[in-house]
Amino acid sequence: MRVAYLSSEVIPFAKTGGLADIAGAIPKSIQKQGVEIIVIMPLYGIIKENHYPLTKTDIQVEVRIGDTLRTGYVYRGFLPDTQVPVYFLDNDQYYGRKGLYNYPCTTKDYEDNSERFIFFAQAALKAIEKLKIFPDIVHCNDWQTGLVPVYLKTTYAKRGCFKNTKIMMTIHNLAYQGIFWHWDMNLTGLDWSLFNWKQLEFYGKLNFLKSGIVFSDLITTVSKTYAKEIQTPEYGAGLDSVLKERAKDLYGIINGIDYTIWNPETDKLIIANYGRKDLRGKLLCKRALQNKFKLPEKDIPLVAMITRLTAQKGLDLVVDKFQDLMKINLQFILLGNGEQRYHKLFQDYAKAFPSKVAVKLAFDERSAHEIEAGADIFLMPSRFEPCGLNQLYSLKYGTVPIVRGTGGLADTITDIGSRAAPHKEANGFLFEKYDSDLLMATIVKAIDFFKNKIRWAELMRNGMAQDWSLERSALEYIALYKRLGEGK
Ligand code: ADP
Repeated sequence: MRVAYLSSEVIPFAKTGGLADIAGAIPKSIQKQGVEIIVIMPLYGIIKENHYPLTKTDIQVEVRIGDTLRTGYVYRGFLPDTQVPVYFLDNDQYYGRKGLYNYPCTTKDYEDNSERFIFFAQAALKAIEKLKIFPDIVHCNDWQTGLVPVYLKTTYAKRGCFKNTKIMMTIHNLAYQGIFWHWDMNLTGLDWSLFNWKQLEFYGKLNFLKSGIVFSDLITTVSKTYAKEIQTPEYGAGLDSVLKERAKDLYGIINGIDYTIWNPETDKLIIANYGRKDLRGKLLCKRALQNKFKLPEKDIPLVAMITRLTAQKGLDLVVDKFQDLMKINLQFILLGNGEQRYHKLFQDYAKAFPSKVAVKLAFDERSAHEIEAGADIFLMPSRFEPCGLNQLYSLKYGTVPIVRGTGGLADTITDIGSRAAPHKEANGFLFEKYDSDLLMATIVKAIDFFKNKIRWAELMRNGMAQDWSLERSALEYIALYKRLGEGK
């Protein structure tokens, strides 16, 4: 079986969020099961700057964008320490910039994003043809690849290379749909007859993700709960009825994590390694973290967040209760970047409570590892969460998660309940309703529980023992690929 896996971001090359983690990891696990898989992504300026060992192939593709012919040059590399080939599409005009989708350090999108990903969709398919891959499956991810299924089912349908190709679309976050003005249809080269409310149109605009959902053979998303949630108006972001229509082709496959990168026993980015049998290193990591973030090195519960600063992540609940939170004996560290209003708020908190609050407003991989290792509690009160990765990293690092029970958080975190000792499955604290009083009550409960060191260590070890590796997810994807191959 041959699979072409298309993603606009892949670690370690380019990342803005969880999609990159998965796209850089799941192909490895899929290949381990004997499936031939290649990855295709854009060659962004930051990838060139970082001097990854890539070779320029002699493959070149021409894509018509409106009236203009654009050229893409194909480079080849590998996912680090693997035999998984990654093909990079180079077009300096589209990708020779620092940001992936927006101007660096802002939330302002590039004005030509639709053109950049219209190009990507077609250039990827043309590269697959020239590479003579003959894929059984083209696996698309998120809105940036949303037009790929449309091309495959229309203008590219009769091409020999794709005669037996089936299409899977994975939704990593329905909140980002790639919605552009209708005249961009002229750039796609697709027939205007497709611009109707059952296919590419969404309230007068061109919607890439909707297009992908409508034209794919199977749709997956990254947890079973989120697969159900997105069929409701509350979580459907306007596409609930489109998804409901495809309900029998819609599956939830929970993400896993790459334990070669996220494992406190081997992590090279943390000051001391540790595991569930010997937790001593975690204390050293905590001291080092407090020191780095200029907080007093005290035995006090250390609560952390690592997150894009956007309303999705439940920051409004935290802001609502911040003053109350500061009355509790705890320290709080936030690593994040995103919307300016949150930058300002959290900067102000850090100034107002210098011995309790530390904030780093940046995207910083090393700090993310240090925080996972050094914190006691990880806070993730998301309004919605397709899967969430940080709660899984936290489990492995013995950093007990407090989450709201939505999407993948509901599928991975089991609340401690009301008993004095954690039951075997309990791995964190969970509250249901999106409500700041509930968040506060749950934090208070966790801090109280933290006082009993023996019970707390049990809870940590429960989480550390759990297996959230990607192998399980890979097997589920492969089972669906097979079903597709057999005509579902
Ligand atoms: P989402 O994809 O919605 O942002 P996930 O939990 O699925 O949320 O994945 C987020 C990923 O991005 C995690 O690997 C997390 O560690 C990382 N991340 C988020 N913000 C930062 C940051 N400021 N610095 C470093 N890593 C970050």
